[in-house]
Amino acid sequence: MSDTNPATGHALADARERDAADPLGEYREHFSVPDGERYMDGNSLGLASDTALATLERVVDEWRALAIRGWEAADPDWFHYGEHLGDLLAPLVGARESEVVVANSTTVNIHTLIGTFLDTLPGTPAGPDPTADPPAVLVNDLDFPTDHYAIRAQFRQRGLDPDEGLVAVESRDGRTIDEADIEAALRERDDVGIVFMPSVLYRSGQLLDVDRITAAAHEHGALAGFDCAHSVGAVDHALGDAGADGEGADFAVWCSYKYLNAGPGATAGLYVHERHHGTTPALAGWWGNDKSTQFDMRHTYDQADTAGAWQIGTVPMLSSAPIEGATELVREAGIERVREKSLALTDYLIDLVDDRLGDDFSVGTPREHARRGGHVAIEHPEGYRVSEALRDRDVVVDFRPPNVVRVCPAPLYTRYEDVWHVIETIQAIVESDAHREYEPRDGGVT
Ligand SMILES: *Cc1c(COP(=O)(O)O)cnc(C)c1O
Repeated sequence: MSDTNPATGHALADARERDAADPLGEYREHFSVPDGERYMDGNSLGLASDTALATLERVVDEWRALAIRGWEAADPDWFHYGEHLGDLLAPLVGARESEVVVANSTTVNIHTLIGTFLDTLPGTPAGPDPTADPPAVLVNDLDFPTDHYAIRAQFRQRGLDPDEGLVAVESRDGRTIDEADIEAALRERDDVGIVFMPSVLYRSGQLLDVDRITAAAHEHGALAGFDCAHSVGAVDHALGDAGADGEGADFAVWCSYKYLNAGPGATAGLYVHERHHGTTPALAGWWGNDKSTQFDMRHTYDQADTAGAWQIGTVPMLSSAPIEGATELVREAGIERVREKSLALTDYLIDLVDDRLGDDFSVGTPREHARRGGHVAIEHPEGYRVSEALRDRDVVVDFRPPNVVRVCPAPLYTRYEDVWHVIETIQAIVESDAHREYEPRDGGVT
């Protein structure tokens, strides 16, 4: 897995050689990397790029010049902009253009998609057999919290008990989810209607097997949905071909402000497989109407026959425009090459942790490429204080309780040299006990 030659060690010169040979090295020039900083938080908020700012500025100019006419006269026109961005994103997730749209926020998309598919299942008030036993949604106990909040709310809105309906697969080690445990849950219970899993766990960085989970869900008559917030833009997906027979995952959601680098709170994306087009969205709105009749302003909802139906209200142009320019870079670099560089960077990072940091440190991220997303969880009993000390030394990482320092070498703008400096800085902090100058986290402020 690693191509590190122990004879050359882990010198800075070695990191620089890797940078010089990096086919994607030039992409860094497009980004506003904060001066003097090692920015390792691209899985929380990706950096601004000149191309993202250019499409944002274009839309600002169109607003100034065209005002209301921008809905039709802008290029591309604003009216179909969510669909247009969906077309640009479809190859990054391995789906057809009609299956992807940019709309809403990730949390809202979880609400509408979980709600939509609950309404198709027996045991729900709008489902085919309301008197049947209610369905369960299978999640896991390491999920990002908003996913559970939204799913619970969707159960409550149908008069169903979320404590019964939301079923979490347990982690064996507190870091990862074993796909075999998802399969076992599906075998043991016959009430699972939807399996909703992350592609990459936000804390440990484990990449789950989307293919295998889709196949297992379908084998047991359940739908397979995914939260790809921590992978789109860093991992190459084939949502449209997932499953035992390439039948495709049923639905997915993701954000645009992490690896897609489209700015804070940028409009999210969603995927709905074409076999579900025509299913009534749980949170309907006029922007999901068929575009050709939307402005007839009838009171009957005539839903689009694409994933566009899951839009709700007016596309937020200023939060969507940067997606166009930001995505251009990922498309030009090629998502397969982006993924290759991401793995090479995290391989290098993991090697450095093994070789240079003491036994108090461990890597909580799976080492197999097929099970690793774009960031690395470095665990240390004093992880919080180490992360505080890093921030004061211009290394931007984040901390996730109880002991995880998340380090994300985002592939389009991070150099091997930056990774080398991060580990060098961690080593210097612990060797000098500098982290002990910081208050432990028990103070309560996050
Ligand atoms: C970042 C993230 C979200 C964020 O949802 P928002 O609605 O954009 O706040 C949701 N789910 C996962 C797994 C995430 O990583």
